[in-house]
Amino acid sequence: MGPLLLIRYGEIFLKGLNRPYFLKALQQNIKLAIADEGARVWLSDSRFYISGAADINACALKAAKVFGVHSVSHAFEMAKDDYQAICDKALELMRGKTGTFKVQARRSDKAFFKDSPQINAELGEHVLKRMPHLSVDVRHPDTILSVEIRDHCYLYTDVIPAVGGMPSGTNGRATLLLSGGIDSPVAGYLIAKRGVKINCVYYHSYPFTGDRVREKVINLAGKLSEYSGEVQLSVIPFTRIQTQIHEKCAEAYTTLIMRRFMMRIAAALAVKNNAQALVTGESIGQVASQTMEALVLTDALVPMPVFRPLIGLDKQEIINYAQKIGTFDISSLPYQDCCTVFTPRHPVTHPQKDHVELAERVLDTQSLIDDAIEGLEVITVNAYTKEDA
Ligand code: ATP
Ligand code: MG
Repeated sequence: MGPLLLIRYGEIFLKGLNRPYFLKALQQNIKLAIADEGARVWLSDSRFYISGAADINACALKAAKVFGVHSVSHAFEMAKDDYQAICDKALELMRGKTGTFKVQARRSDKAFFKDSPQINAELGEHVLKRMPHLSVDVRHPDTILSVEIRDHCYLYTDVIPAVGGMPSGTNGRATLLLSGGIDSPVAGYLIAKRGVKINCVYYHSYPFTGDRVREKVINLAGKLSEYSGEVQLSVIPFTRIQTQIHEKCAEAYTTLIMRRFMMRIAAALAVKNNAQALVTGESIGQVASQTMEALVLTDALVPMPVFRPLIGLDKQEIINYAQKIGTFDISSLPYQDCCTVFTPRHPVTHPQKDHVELAERVLDTQSLIDDAIEGLEVITVNAYTKEDA
């Protein structure tokens, strides 16, 4: 009995026979997210609970970022057989409140000796008598005093909205092409929100892109890990590929050829990591390499679906997301990424397959890819353990 966090889950409700699988995954993910809080997490009667956290407010914010969590409340657990104590706790929770309120009881234990309308009326009256400065508004109250009668009785007045989505790892794996830009972290967030476990690949063109860009990408992966748990980030040396493209290929095609290398390498890594799809931050028509024709020519190379969660979003909409999930400030740091280093003056916007293939033919594609993969460095990023982030 005492203070704890009460956690509601969202869409898992819709799952029929598979529900235990999703709930187990969610419980595990919540545990991992709050591992350093020394708290206990358990599931009982359609709610998760957390108690014993070192810092209960920090713990609530961490739990609210776990995909699959719908909302979090700071609640008090009370014994069901001590109605007087429940009334006293209701008063305590309403202390300091002003304006209007209503009591909202929910009784999943139908054997409880009072039904919900009775609890609403009685507790409402109890509060009003002792706090005459308050008034009741059942439609738009300033405060909702919630009372849930379950295995125990739970009282609370706050509801912290959480991220929603599905528990990480319950919907397959995908490889995210993560740059230091604004778009790809948002794309990763949106796909991970649906329960897809992401691993990331970043193409690093040292010294054209310095260590600070690498740091920035690690920090972005760290931000994503706050929502989706530990992230494996593969850093691929990309300088040789970029310089060869720059030196040997027709200028108008260089960006597209570079994008095709990125896709080929990401697909090879995806296969290695048992990922079933690629994810990019592209949005149709945003830049020359994101026209319909260019996207078709990058997709054509990979033997798996390429998900582009931002495909129909405007830049401002993407920025709004980035601000909401906390990646915008990191992405906005002014370090160049590899795409801006060798930008052609007039990139082709309606590329044709045979022209691109011709422009690419001067390169020893396979050995460039093999060398790049050979040089990869894998970094494990976890926002909460801070080992590498
Ligand atoms: P972003 O803001 O995500 O960098 P962008 O609008 O700048 O996107 P591009 O630079 O054309 O677009 O890149 C398109 C996509 O290619 C990115 O969203 C990302 O998924 C991937 N990408 C680009 N550069 C890199 C990189 N250096 N490492 C890994 N992926 C990259
Ligand atoms: Mg970019």
